[in-house]
Formats: sequence, C-alpha cells, structure tokens
Amino acid sequence: MNIPCKSSSSFISKQQELEQLSQEIVLCRKCSLAISRNRPLVGDGNIGANIVMIGEAPGYYEDLKGKAFIGNAGKVLDGLLQVAGISRQDLYITNVLKCHPPHNRAPSLQEIQSCSCYLYRQLKILQPKVIITLGKHASKELFSRIFLPFSSITEMHGKVFEIKASYGPVKVIPLYHPSAACHNPSLLEVLTKDFETIAGYLKK
Ligand code: SF4
Repeated sequence: MNIPCKSSSSFISKQQELEQLSQEIVLCRKCSLAISRNRPLVGDGNIGANIVMIGEAPGYYEDLKGKAFIGNAGKVLDGLLQVAGISRQDLYITNVLKCHPPHNRAPSLQEIQSCSCYLYRQLKILQPKVIITLGKHASKELFSRIFLPFSSITEMHGKVFEIKASYGPVKVIPLYHPSAACHNPSLLEVLTKDFETIAGYLKK
C-alpha cells in the first residue's frame, strides 16, 4: 500500500501532524460541500489505536456536533463493537469525505477524488494495523488505492485482506456500513456475525 513510513511516529508528533491536517481541512474549499457543511469532521477517537475505521461521510448529527457515528448508525456501531469486545477508545474513526453531503446523499466521484487525499494523509500519520472500511463507497475507494479488485460489498464483507504498507503489515476488512442495518434489519445479523468473526483480529 502506498502509505510511506513516517520517521516521527510518536504520539505527540502524530497529534501535531493531525492538527496541521485538520487546519487544512477546515479551510478546504475543494468541492461544493464546503458551502453546505456546518463543520468538517476530520476524525474522532484514539490516535494511538491500531484500528482505523473508515466510513463514507459525516451524517446530519456528525456535521452538527463534529463527532463520529453519533446518530442511529452510531448506536448500531456501538452494539457491534460490544459484540467484538472493543470500545470506542480502541479505535480512530474517520470518513472518505470530511464534509456532510446534504440529505445524506451518496458522495459523488468528484467529491471522493477531491477529498480522499486527506484520508491517505491521515493513514500515513496514524499507521494502523487494521483498517475497516464501512460500506461500498469507503471500501471501493480504499481497494482502488491498494490496487485490489473490489466486486461488491455483498461479496466481500467480512473477508480479511492482508497487505503490506511501508510501515508494516496491515489487515484490511470491508464491512457493511452500520447505517445499512437501520434501513434493512436483516443486515444487522450479517454485521453481527462479521464482528464476531473479526473480533480476534481487532483485539490483536
Ligand atoms: S468534502 Fe473534502 S474536498 Fe470537499 S470541501 Fe470538504 S474537506 Fe474539502
């Protein structure tokens, strides 16, 4: 994976680098979401965590409060994390898009292309051992970045892909987005099974 190793990987330098990135994102006007957003959500959680979760974009409540997964999808995620024996403190959560698309619409290709550079800079700083992509947009984007074919989330959810980043091995795990279970309750069962299956990987 094209995520070069950083020489300064201490917690403090990570924090400084992320703050610098946050300042750039707050000022970003690269796509039209800059007009409609309340505030960008750069990321949320423990910057020293081994696990980074990547969602699609901030939702309505995330846009208002600047916190990740605090709406209905957040409640689903919290339940799934409990199944896996993981707390929010064990994670850093971010999104492909840093700004909220109006009415929670799907991100456009142009928005993803404009914004994804921030995500890869974040990953370069955070150097996670496990990357979980939530939903088809985040999964498709990351898989294209690491040059792995992505067919569909239906086919690939819950599978573990081992890749080599410049700082070491990384496990990439695509999952359904927790919001999918809000619209289609049968997917909650699928997500629960996936979290049970990958719980071991998450705790390493
Ligand atoms: S979504 Fe990304 S590219 Fe668009 S304005 Fe926000 S930070 Fe910039």
